[in-house]
Amino acid sequence: MHTKQGKKPRINLITLGCSKNTYDSEVLMGQLNSAGKEVMHEQKVRKDDTVIINTCGFIDKAKQESVDTILEWAAAKEKGKISKLIVMGCLSERYGEELAAEIPQVDKFFGTKHLPEILKYLEVDYRHELIGERLLTTPQHYAYFKIAEGCDRPCSFCAIPLMRGKHLSTPIEELVLQAKKLVANGTKELILIAQELTYYGQDLYGKRRLDDLLRALSDVNGLEWIRLQYAYPSQFPLEIIDVMKERENICNYLDMPLQHISDNMLKAMRRGITARKTYELIDSIRQKLPEITMRTTMLVGHPGETEKDVDDLEEFIIKTKFDRLGVFTYSHEENTHAGTLVDDLDEEIKQSRADRIMEAQREISLTKNTDKIGKEYKVLIDRHEGEYWVGRTESDSPEVDNEVLIESKEQYARIGDFSKVRIYDAMEYDLFGEIIT
Ligand code: SF4
Repeated sequence: MHTKQGKKPRINLITLGCSKNTYDSEVLMGQLNSAGKEVMHEQKVRKDDTVIINTCGFIDKAKQESVDTILEWAAAKEKGKISKLIVMGCLSERYGEELAAEIPQVDKFFGTKHLPEILKYLEVDYRHELIGERLLTTPQHYAYFKIAEGCDRPCSFCAIPLMRGKHLSTPIEELVLQAKKLVANGTKELILIAQELTYYGQDLYGKRRLDDLLRALSDVNGLEWIRLQYAYPSQFPLEIIDVMKERENICNYLDMPLQHISDNMLKAMRRGITARKTYELIDSIRQKLPEITMRTTMLVGHPGETEKDVDDLEEFIIKTKFDRLGVFTYSHEENTHAGTLVDDLDEEIKQSRADRIMEAQREISLTKNTDKIGKEYKVLIDRHEGEYWVGRTESDSPEVDNEVLIESKEQYARIGDFSKVRIYDAMEYDLFGEIIT
């Protein structure tokens, strides 16, 4: 079907939320593209185009952004700027009926597990054999790599299991096939993601098999970096640190959201671990691999959190010196366990506690970055921006961690390639370097 101008209607995807949503959008785009549909990601639209919004329903701020984006495109449709509006993903999974009643301009709402249904609605047949046929929305040289869906953990504050369901691992063979296809298309770095990475295999094989998966992926020729995100601390499988040591192309990098450290909060959050066990786990990991880069995420403002709990958290941060750290403020989510408690702290207090923790981390990050001055690193060049090539070391995940800035006036680099770089200056969250080879 073509427009009066003979142009083909296109499908424009908009992705909100986390890297798992990015992965889902890319899989959908791969299927549509293989069926001959013209697909694009967050581009300018024409009036005959279809817009699909992949939403996030995690916490207040993210939900608000999703609703605002839907309303923006609903208004565009009313003005005849687009022909069809489809909403998918977590917010739609959680509030689809309410949203459909409130925003009738949306043609169809789909949840988080409706790939075949969305395709059918767009007159395309789902083809399982297209495993790994993704249209990347990230630069070609790195890709988010979802190894499992859903989560079986009972964390009090978290609505993700409500939207993503139970933990479901993807078979090792299928993941290796996906990885090979990505490498054949130029991908050098895989960022392994899931809601709970370390649970991998428990559902499918009756035991944790992240270590086996890592070895299988590490054997894929051409994969230079394999990075781990979203590990869970309780019953952490230390054998994956052994595989990290054993395999050159598995980054000495681990993202493990801990959320808190006080026993009072770890119990209230139903994290299944104690402060003592957490300290011991970090010590064991660092004893096995002293050069590991550790990233974590904290949550402040949970119902019942006291000033003493935040004192414990600040002390933990200062003692442990994480390489990378982010903080969220608690969002009161209905149908979660904590949603049945009283949200007893106002937003200002929550935010001031988050600021306090980030201030402690800012100093730690500056000290650690300053220690890198004069040292040499393998840097993957992600993009050119202003007067700089911008890249990352093995210790930095895209979008959330530090970046290396290299003046481009007299230095040449290629996006997607590795360069050897010597660091000559540092800021809290960025490094400045020069190419040496
Ligand atoms: S492990 Fe993560 S995704 Fe799962 S319930 Fe806990 S916070 Fe949510």
